[in-house]
Amino acid sequence: MNDSLGTTGLILNEPLLWEKGKKGRCGFSLPKRDVDVSPLDPGLVGEGPDFPDLSEVDVVRHYTRLSQWNFGVDTGMYPLGSCTMKYNPKTNERQAGLAGFTGTHPLAPDALSQGALQILFELEQYLVEITGMDAATLQPAAGAQGELAGMLLIHAWHRKKGSQRTRIIVPDTAHGTNPASVALCGYRPVAVASNEQGILSAEAVATVMDEDTAGIMITNPNTLGLFEENILDIAEVVHSKGGLVYCDGANMNAVMGVVQMGKIGVDVMHLNLHKTFSTPHGGGGPGSGPVCVKKELEPFLPVPRVVKRDDKYALEENRPDSIGRLQTFYGNVGVMLKAYSYIRTMGAEGLKKASQLAVLNANYIKEKLRNTLHLAYDRPCMHECVFSDRYQAPHHVTTLDMAKRLMDYGYHPPTVYFPLVVPGAIMMEPTETESKEDIDTYIEAFKAIVQEAQENPDLLHDAPHKCKVRRLDETTAARKPCLAG
Ligand SMILES: *Cc1c(COP(=O)(O)O)cnc(C)c1O
Repeated sequence: MNDSLGTTGLILNEPLLWEKGKKGRCGFSLPKRDVDVSPLDPGLVGEGPDFPDLSEVDVVRHYTRLSQWNFGVDTGMYPLGSCTMKYNPKTNERQAGLAGFTGTHPLAPDALSQGALQILFELEQYLVEITGMDAATLQPAAGAQGELAGMLLIHAWHRKKGSQRTRIIVPDTAHGTNPASVALCGYRPVAVASNEQGILSAEAVATVMDEDTAGIMITNPNTLGLFEENILDIAEVVHSKGGLVYCDGANMNAVMGVVQMGKIGVDVMHLNLHKTFSTPHGGGGPGSGPVCVKKELEPFLPVPRVVKRDDKYALEENRPDSIGRLQTFYGNVGVMLKAYSYIRTMGAEGLKKASQLAVLNANYIKEKLRNTLHLAYDRPCMHECVFSDRYQAPHHVTTLDMAKRLMDYGYHPPTVYFPLVVPGAIMMEPTETESKEDIDTYIEAFKAIVQEAQENPDLLHDAPHKCKVRRLDETTAARKPCLAG
C-alpha cells in the first residue's frame, strides 16, 4: 500500500539525557550574582544525583522526540478491544483544569468546597440514571477497584443477613480482574462456560448456583462484544437462591441510554469513567471506577458519602454499615470532573447516539472483514467484534504476526489473544469517534495484511519493519525493560 500511514522518515533517534549532556551546558542565563556565595549545609542536602548539563533546546528536543515515538488516540485509530480507546474531547480536560478545581485541597472544609462537592453529587446522580440503579460511590480509582468494592458490598450485605457464603460465579469470558477481585475479597471464583452463542444460559448458571454462592459477576455486554440476552433469567436463578448479581460495566459504551442494568436484574455494578466517560487512558494514568447499587445495598457504600442537606453539600462519615474507606480522600476527582463535563456536553441524546454509533462501527468492521478473517461468533455484535487467525493457520501466520504488521500500516493493534475462549482472538473496538473514512482505511490495511499472509508470510513473521523498535521478546521486555533509546 503506497498510502499507508506508517513511515519512519522523520522519527529521530534519541539517547538518554545522561549520554547527551556535556559538562558546562546550561538551560538558563541569569544576571551576575551580586551577593556572596552561601554554601548549602552538606548534612542537609547530602550527595545529590549527578544531573547532566543540558541546554534548553537539548531538553525540549529530548522530550519532543520521545513523545513522537509514542502512539495515542490523538495520533490515530486505536481499536484496542475491551478498552474503549475513544477520542476524548479537549474541553473536558479544560474544565477539569479550571483553577477552582486544581487549586482546591482535599482537607478544605466542606463549606469551602461546595462547587466540587456539588459536581460529585450530581455526577453520582447522572451515573445512577444511566445505569438505572439507586445510589453510587465515585471512590474506586479503577474498574478493578470497583469490582473489589462491589465484592465487599455483596459480602457486607450477606453478613448483615447473618449468612456467610463462600463462592462467586464467574463466566469463562470474564476479564482477568473479575476472578482476581473475587479471590481478593476471600471468595472462591466458580467458572461457568458460555454457550455456543458466546453468552451464558440460565441453565448453565442454575447448575452451579447454590446457597453457598454469594452471587454472580457478569460482564454485559460481555468481552466477546455480545449482549448477555439471558440476563433476566440468570438474575432470577441467582436471586431465587439468595444471591446477588454484579455487573462488570466496563463495556457500558455499547448501551448508554439504551439499557439500564438496574432494570434487568443487576444489584451492583461498576463503570469505568476512563473508558466510557472521556478520560485518556492506557499506560497507567489515574482512572475512576464508580460503583452503583440498588437501594438495599446503599448503607454499605464506602465513606465518606457526598450528601445534600438544605441546599448544602457535605461529606458524611457516620455510616455504621459502611465497608469503610477506599481512598485517603475521595478518589481521582480530576477524572470525575472530566466525566461530568462529558455527560453535560453530550446530554442524554448525545450519549445514546455515541453508543449507537459505537455499535454501528463495530458491526461495519465485522461485516467488511468477515471473509478476510474468521469470525468467532457470527451474530450481531455490540461495540466490539472478535475474529481469530483460523484462516491464516495454513500459511503459519498468527494473530500476533498480523497485529505487529498492522503497526507498519500506522495503526495501534487490536486486543489479541483475549478473550481466552477464542483461540488466536483478535478483538476490535473502533468506538464511535472514528469516521467512516478512517475505518475504511483500517479495513483496507487489514485486508492487505491478510493478502501478505498468503503471498509472503515471512514479511509478517518479523514485523513490524517500520517502527522505532522491531519485534520484541515481550517477556524480556516486560521483565527487564531497556529504557535507553
Ligand atoms: C478494563 C476492564 C476491567 C478493568 O478495569 P480497570 O479500570 O483497567 O481496572 C474490567 N473488566 C472489563 C471487562 C474491562 O474491559
